[in-house]
Amino acid sequence: MKEESLLIKAGRKFNDYKGSMNPPVYHSSTILFPTYRNYLDAANGESIYDVINDGVARDYSYSNVGTPTVHYLSNALAEVEGRGQALIYPSGLFALTFAILTFAKAGSHVLIQDNSYYRLKRFAESELLKRGVGVTFYDPTQDIASLIRSNTSLIMIETPGSVTFEISNIEHIVKVAKEHGIVTVCDNSWSTPLLFKPLDCGVDVALYAVTKYLAGHSDLLMGAIVAEGEIFKLLYEGYKNYGVTVQSHDCYLAHRGLRTLHARMKRHQSTAIRVARWLEKHSRVEKVLYPALPSHPQHKLWKNYFKGASGVFSIVLNKKYSCEELSRMVDHMKIFNIGASWGGCDSLILPMDRKSMSRSVMSLGYNGSFVRIFCGLEDPGDLISDLDAALARLPCLESQDDNVERETKRVTA
Ligand SMILES: *Cc1c(COP(=O)(O)O)cnc(C)c1O
Repeated sequence: MKEESLLIKAGRKFNDYKGSMNPPVYHSSTILFPTYRNYLDAANGESIYDVINDGVARDYSYSNVGTPTVHYLSNALAEVEGRGQALIYPSGLFALTFAILTFAKAGSHVLIQDNSYYRLKRFAESELLKRGVGVTFYDPTQDIASLIRSNTSLIMIETPGSVTFEISNIEHIVKVAKEHGIVTVCDNSWSTPLLFKPLDCGVDVALYAVTKYLAGHSDLLMGAIVAEGEIFKLLYEGYKNYGVTVQSHDCYLAHRGLRTLHARMKRHQSTAIRVARWLEKHSRVEKVLYPALPSHPQHKLWKNYFKGASGVFSIVLNKKYSCEELSRMVDHMKIFNIGASWGGCDSLILPMDRKSMSRSVMSLGYNGSFVRIFCGLEDPGDLISDLDAALARLPCLESQDDNVERETKRVTA
């Protein structure tokens, strides 16, 4: 079955719902059994109810492991990934932090990309250090062999990285990890399984902020992981022990979002490419950071790994603007809204605070202000007009170098 068709059907079992097209939203804190024996069997992973057939003994004796609505979604995500099993978390950030808690303990050392989602870095800098876990922030485009220590237990990957969109050298990272028996986790939120499948490249855990494209409508927060075998078992053990739960209604919505994922991603890509190309020619834009553009330094590497591009990228303006100047640019847009996150239907724009990016390893090499752009599902021409008007509100055409030149001219004149 083609992926587009699979996305429509994945995880749904019409017979279970008495023929209803859509899964019911089960609201239940407990699971009932006809006999005590059935209850004990369920706790040992042999439930009389059809739960998840993944060869992993699951304790299905209480709804802390999810209602059927939750399982319909996790089954769907594993089907779309094409392998492994999925677990659902209350947010993308929680999936990230939970993966670290699962594969690192006091005395361990973890590698986290320097260009990763900034809340993950904040977690590492505060919570991990407090718990005696050593952290090295690494440049995912460089050789990482020398960063491995005897106690390195985990490498976190995010490709492309947040805000600056560098592509990680996955093949190299996975090779080094396997040589040292280190677990790898790849935050694949930007691509979704449609554009890139981390497990197929030897990564141990594919991780998603379901909040973004998978749910796709900016109406819930959710995370997910997909993994196989022993790695999945460890994550599942932790899941039960920590009491991680998600709500059925949110899972229903996320599952519904999957059905339009293919059509949405296609549209996000075509719009983003058109908008990015247009921005590239704009005089106030110094650089467009989007792997799908041939001008991206790792465009070739991106092509090797990814089947396509999604709708988020950044631009670097030709000058560092003040907060007030950036406000004037984005405050009165007609279609783009100001807001964090992305992956819904609505276009979003956000000037990025360089401090929150806090890159220590990678040299950014750009002088201007960063602005993240998410191209939603509106008409691409409308988005370009909106950006055109916004950029025209920036106060000064000249770059800083031009200013210096003009000053010098004035002095000599
Ligand atoms: C948004 C985001 C997350 C966090 O997801 P939430 O559900 O908002 O917590 C994680 N990783 C990446 C790459 C993201 O963009």
